[in-house]
Amino acid sequence: MKKKILIWSSLLAMLLGCSAGPENPSSEASSQSEPAQTYQWRLVTTWPKNLPGLGMAPENIADRIRVMSDGRLDIKVYGAGEVVPALETFEAVSQGTVQMGHGASYYWRGSVPIAQFFTAVPFGLSAQEMNGWLLHGGGMALWEELYAQYNLVPVVGGNTGVQMAGWFNKEINSLSDLQGVKMRIPGFGGEVFEAAGGTAVNIPAGEIFTSLQTGVIDAAEWVGPFNDLVLGFHQVAKYYYYPGWQEPGPTLELIVNKEAFDALPSDLQAIVRSASQAVNSDVLSEYTARNNRALKELVEQHAVEVRRLPNDVLAQLKNISDQRVAALVGDDPLNQRIFESYQNYRSGVMDYNELSERAFLNVRAQLEGYDP
Ligand code: CA
Repeated sequence: MKKKILIWSSLLAMLLGCSAGPENPSSEASSQSEPAQTYQWRLVTTWPKNLPGLGMAPENIADRIRVMSDGRLDIKVYGAGEVVPALETFEAVSQGTVQMGHGASYYWRGSVPIAQFFTAVPFGLSAQEMNGWLLHGGGMALWEELYAQYNLVPVVGGNTGVQMAGWFNKEINSLSDLQGVKMRIPGFGGEVFEAAGGTAVNIPAGEIFTSLQTGVIDAAEWVGPFNDLVLGFHQVAKYYYYPGWQEPGPTLELIVNKEAFDALPSDLQAIVRSASQAVNSDVLSEYTARNNRALKELVEQHAVEVRRLPNDVLAQLKNISDQRVAALVGDDPLNQRIFESYQNYRSGVMDYNELSERAFLNVRAQLEGYDP
């Protein structure tokens, strides 16, 4: 009888997650006497230090991780250029110079061209759709497989929603107006822009304004009204074009050195993923809340002229984009799996959107008197 009670009490203790029991009487004492291991990590970013919106995402991720881990994982965030230049973030984390980075996967297209699918593809997925593909549509596993080759663990780390097409000092009435225009436009959008006759350059956020002002570039896209107002582009460019065909729902990334991540206890690994995923959705919420007011300020106080890209220009950019995507994917088996997963998901989500998001937004706009 006594033995039975002992077995039942041990089982109960196990169910309750307690470690006490006659089998290992010393475990509780030893866990109390050893202080929990703490980790001091460094995180580098592609953003200027404390840039509102996406630049605050790594700060917010680090803050959440510090609180959730009770200080066991303490991460110091460095802005672009403080430890390594903005566009060397991927390499610095991959090689273990630092443990973490925050940026966007399309910045690494020079070394990992297919990575662009995990930020944005022209005419691709919106923010909501990207989150669906990555978190519930198979995208995340492919991203992890790709980045494991570079000793990295990726986690979603923000999304700006649909961006603007960019700032120009000339009107864009046909595709030929892009001829010879030197524009800051990164990622796949830049490749399409080049094929359309322009010159694409990738300049980090902190250098765009001066480059526009001094004529190093003629045009630039960055994000949307909330961020672009902060960076002051309205002072050096006249026309603000939409829609952001090049980045319909760009996902930002938290990247973690794989060896450093694997060495963390599982609770800290879960905290890293959860904190970044929470910030992923928080960034989108902030842009959604702030873009409208910033646009009003740009138009009413700074006389910015907002223009829509003509439909035939957009159609030609879409054609070029389709051709370039096919060339980019090529014969590589992993590239093809990423492309097929993305395309299958995109066509499925578009079908249902006809009955949901688009149907609703169209009818709401119509009833409120907007142009359909
Ligand atoms: Ca952009």
